[in-house]
Amino acid sequence: MASEIAQYIGPVVLLGPPGAGKGTQAKRLVERYGVPQISTGDLLRDNVKRETPLGVEAKCVMTRGELVSDQLVCEMVAGRLRETDCDRGFVLDGFPRTAAQAGWLDAFLENEFFDNACQKLPPIVVRLDLDYNQLVLRITGRRSCPTCGRIYNVHFQPPCTDAICDLDGSPLVTRSDDREEVMKERLNTYDAQTRPVADYYGRQGRVVLVNADQPMGVVAAQIAGMIDARSLLQGTQASPRHF
Ligand code: AMP
Repeated sequence: MASEIAQYIGPVVLLGPPGAGKGTQAKRLVERYGVPQISTGDLLRDNVKRETPLGVEAKCVMTRGELVSDQLVCEMVAGRLRETDCDRGFVLDGFPRTAAQAGWLDAFLENEFFDNACQKLPPIVVRLDLDYNQLVLRITGRRSCPTCGRIYNVHFQPPCTDAICDLDGSPLVTRSDDREEVMKERLNTYDAQTRPVADYYGRQGRVVLVNADQPMGVVAAQIAGMIDARSLLQGTQASPRHF
């Protein structure tokens, strides 16, 4: 499917509080456009699991629901964006999370990323908005399969057998920072540090609000509509570099 579309989509930034569905929407875009999802939360969890120096430093901060330092996260993202699979575009999920990270991203795109890209397209910035009570249910109900990574929700998308993955029978797990007390801290952190990111992009007229209370497929179609409209406008539907 992705190879049929092989279009240059440029950077896409998904903003929104924990539980808004950034990861789910990012995966849909990966399937549709064949560009990578760059989830800073996943990259950090992977570092924690492998006990890298970054992982060791990030672990305590993440357990408290606070943010890892801008410098560490930006270095990690720079390393990932330099990989060639990002050349046609990428979907950022969970980054930028502070105004400083947003400023860093703009500078990185300008000074480095666009050298390898076929067009300079500023990020499409989508903010997923959701009612607070829905967020709480989405976060506290979230369960994932440690084997295949599939995400469930005990309220909205439960597995067929309680606490067991439908696909491979593994017992499902709850992310440690999805527990209620940490979740509240994460939502506070979002309010304090990540809302300014939307303000940063908003000042440049670059944020599109999407109601994330709608069914997943409707949200996905709205985001894809924006990407396709821009590609049509820019004539980047079939990038010569990649055909
Ligand atoms: P997430 O999976 O996106 O909810 O991220 C899980 C945790 O990783 C967050 O609560 C933060 O501690 C850390 N984290 C993820 N992305 C960032 C970021 N862009 N800046 C700082 N910390 C981050």
